[in-house]
Amino acid sequence: MHYPEWIWHNGSIKPWAEATTHVMSHALHYGSSVFEGIRCYETPNGPAIFRLTDHNRRLFASARIYDMVLPYSLEEINAACREVILRNGLTRAYLRPLAYRGLGGFGLSAETPIDVSVASWFMGPYLGEGVLEQGIDACVSSWQRFAPNTIPAGAKAGGNYLSGQLIAREARRLGFGEGIALASTGLLSEGAGENLFLVFEGALHTTPISAALLNGITRNTIISLARDAGIPVVERDLPREYLYLCDELFMCGTAAEITPIRSVDGRQVGAGKPGPVTRRIQELFFGLFEGGTPDRYGWLEPLEG
Ligand code: PMP
Repeated sequence: MHYPEWIWHNGSIKPWAEATTHVMSHALHYGSSVFEGIRCYETPNGPAIFRLTDHNRRLFASARIYDMVLPYSLEEINAACREVILRNGLTRAYLRPLAYRGLGGFGLSAETPIDVSVASWFMGPYLGEGVLEQGIDACVSSWQRFAPNTIPAGAKAGGNYLSGQLIAREARRLGFGEGIALASTGLLSEGAGENLFLVFEGALHTTPISAALLNGITRNTIISLARDAGIPVVERDLPREYLYLCDELFMCGTAAEITPIRSVDGRQVGAGKPGPVTRRIQELFFGLFEGGTPDRYGWLEPLEG
């Protein structure tokens, strides 16, 4: 693994190897961290961080759910994100802001210091080379997502990703590209680290935020882009079997971007390759960075402020 040179940690940029934490840090034992995943793209007007402020707002919202008060403002975290990309000489990059309970007590409710870091590194397609063009084979996981009022799915917290790891690792072990989870209700939830869209007769269908899932920023982006382009979007509860009946299916997330799904549980989806609506959504989404889609909502936040 090749690591970048610099990382932002507790207020300053430091060499990657120096951003360490104590083994008795609360987060390591109890999963008490919140984080974000953000991408920076090269655009015709220079590098831009996609929805930087919305992502970091969600970071603060996740922290609030867990009573974690970050010792930095939203503006300071935004600035740290910019600084770490620039210092590492990156343009197309993934950003990982993280806030976690550090060293300061061993009990579950200990009031520890909140440590904060921001890393950045180059990242290509998350689910593998060529997947954006060809699609992946997915499976429904034997692991369900957490029920409402257990672990809040709306917080992007480290502990949630125990569920994501079970789903993703099971899928890979069985030879699939990614796993799709059902909610505790038995209805569709989301992928290990992605939201889901199904296409029926030209319309996008996606599970509502009320079902246990993360309020994805890519999901929200797609809903706006689709509606602006006259593609109907329906937010509704969806049963598992609709995965086998839909015309097209794709996953979305900051890391996964828009990844078509060509089969689920060994059953071919639609024509078994990315369909016209999926390709149109990819075109609209990547068009934001390539210049073909106007940035109507100010989502592209220039790297150099
Ligand atoms: N669901 C989960 C569980 C995720 O980890 C992610 C990735 N952050 C998403 C959905 C997609 O969210 P976003 O589009 O904001 O990256």
